[in-house]
Amino acid sequence: MPSMMIAIDGPAGAGKGTLARRLAHIYHLAHLDTGLLYRAVGLKMLEKGEDLADRQAAIRIAASLKAKDLKNSALRDEAVGNAASHIAPLKEVRDVLLAFQRNFAKNPPVNKQGVVLDGRDIGRVVLPEALCKIYVTASPEVRAERRLKELHEKGIDSIYEAILEDIKIRDARDQTRQTSPLRPAKNAYILDTSEMGINEVVDKACVYIESQYSKVCKQS
Ligand code: C5P
Repeated sequence: MPSMMIAIDGPAGAGKGTLARRLAHIYHLAHLDTGLLYRAVGLKMLEKGEDLADRQAAIRIAASLKAKDLKNSALRDEAVGNAASHIAPLKEVRDVLLAFQRNFAKNPPVNKQGVVLDGRDIGRVVLPEALCKIYVTASPEVRAERRLKELHEKGIDSIYEAILEDIKIRDARDQTRQTSPLRPAKNAYILDTSEMGINEVVDKACVYIESQYSKVCKQS
């Protein structure tokens, strides 16, 4: 069987990260959460007090990213996600991060069977050659509820309406930007998780992945 390459895309909070981690475990794949790259640039912009509209600062920071910058626990903060979606439309920033992502996909650790990347433009831009492309989505209301629950579990008090508003703003920004807008790849498998638990999502994804690979194995 060829080395596996799985591309997962979708809006914030649709469950693509959880799905990617589960698939990485099941198929022994290296996993890259590509949102962390954009978040790492966003976080450094905030830490250095840079204006989020400062193109040159964002490009400079993207070019200097190191693997260890993806390990900072502050990357998960709402403000950092927001900052990430401000710098994400910049083409030069995307170009730098594209090279990082492709390099990761080309060089998985030797003990892995391939890679799974999750983000916004993986199936269309980063790994258009991937045999498996999954677009994970869910209604904004369901995503806001999941996020609220997650924050409550961490002991963080939040307001549902504010989270929902934030999700809608971020969706609009990601979907309407000129460079690599969030959109399913032409041949992606669409998985609406609004009414599904994670086990059902994983099962459906596995059926799709295995059918893609069995087609290839039959052809060769
Ligand atoms: O997925 P996550 O919420 O961590 O991503 C943060 C932001 O980074 C997104 O809202 C999006 O603007 C940007 N992003 C992107 N392309 C990716 C991954 C994330 O533009 N492949």
